[in-house]
Amino acid sequence: MVFKGCPGGDNIKIPELEIVTCPKCGGEVEFFTRDKKSACSDCGYVVVRDTEASCIDWCPMAEECFGKEAVEKYRKKSES
Ligand SMILES: [Zn+2]
Repeated sequence: MVFKGCPGGDNIKIPELEIVTCPKCGGEVEFFTRDKKSACSDCGYVVVRDTEASCIDWCPMAEECFGKEAVEKYRKKSES
């Protein structure tokens, strides 16, 4: 049997674009699924949001799913 990854990983492998309203100027700030912060293109305000905990944080198979490099990158990003 070949492990093909869990369904929870799809939104991390394929980032989705989300639009968040800038609290400072009301402009549109683009976020990708994995982003925790993004700067407003209109005023430069950095919007920080809480992202949901994903399986990559706790799943023992995460490295199988995403690859060791991607997991390390993700965890490094989560700390900042
Ligand atoms: Zn703004």
